[in-house]
Amino acid sequence: MKEQGTFQIDCINCKKPVLFSVKDLNTLHTPVSCTSCGKKYALDDDNLKRQLTLFAALCQQIQLSEEILGNASVAVDVGPHNVKIPFKLLLSRLKSTLDLKVGDTPLTVNFRVQLTDKRHS
Ligand SMILES: [Zn+2]
Repeated sequence: MKEQGTFQIDCINCKKPVLFSVKDLNTLHTPVSCTSCGKKYALDDDNLKRQLTLFAALCQQIQLSEEILGNASVAVDVGPHNVKIPFKLLLSRLKSTLDLKVGDTPLTVNFRVQLTDKRHS
């Protein structure tokens, strides 16, 4: 549970994980740097910051709302049939990653948060 709310990107240089938190985004004045090779990532772009913050908020909200989401489902019409897909099932399939661009480099940001309770209740 320690890593809840931590973003992870794979260093484009050495492929090692670079971790930072939402709090870092708003307090950090220096770029996030890779602890392995020292490559710096400037995450001070306002748009980038906004998207990451929104994404973290979304993941946290899903987590907070799990109690009601557990009883909710999405109804989908498949031909003549109406199929109900439980939200829980959808969430367990949801990968908490966000594809962004840092400068000209495409970057996949992984948000390390457990979206659904893995205990089978
Ligand atoms: Zn690196």
